[in-house]
Amino acid sequence: MQRTLIEALAVDDLAWQDFSSCRGADADLFFPERGASTRKAKSICMACEVRVECLEFAIVSGEKFGIWGGLSERERRKIRKERSIAARRREAV
Ligand code: SF4
Repeated sequence: MQRTLIEALAVDDLAWQDFSSCRGADADLFFPERGASTRKAKSICMACEVRVECLEFAIVSGEKFGIWGGLSERERRKIRKERSIAARRREAV
């Protein structure tokens, strides 16, 4: 019996992967060659019910490659940098 998303999230941190829209999709879409389009992968992500969990996992774990949560490596790096700056500002207060 398949668990619901809420049940899965309550059990373990990676359970969200059971609900990913990219399961069975062509991995090359999500890990494209440099300069290749990421549009198709991002459109799959935008309809994925675990996009938020996926993106957070990739940011926190420092995933350096591929499309995760609808964002590219560069887009995730920008978020990490912004979070880092915000954390340093909070510490300085
Ligand atoms: S957000 Fe995208 S990469 Fe993440 S699980 Fe969903 S479809 Fe896959």
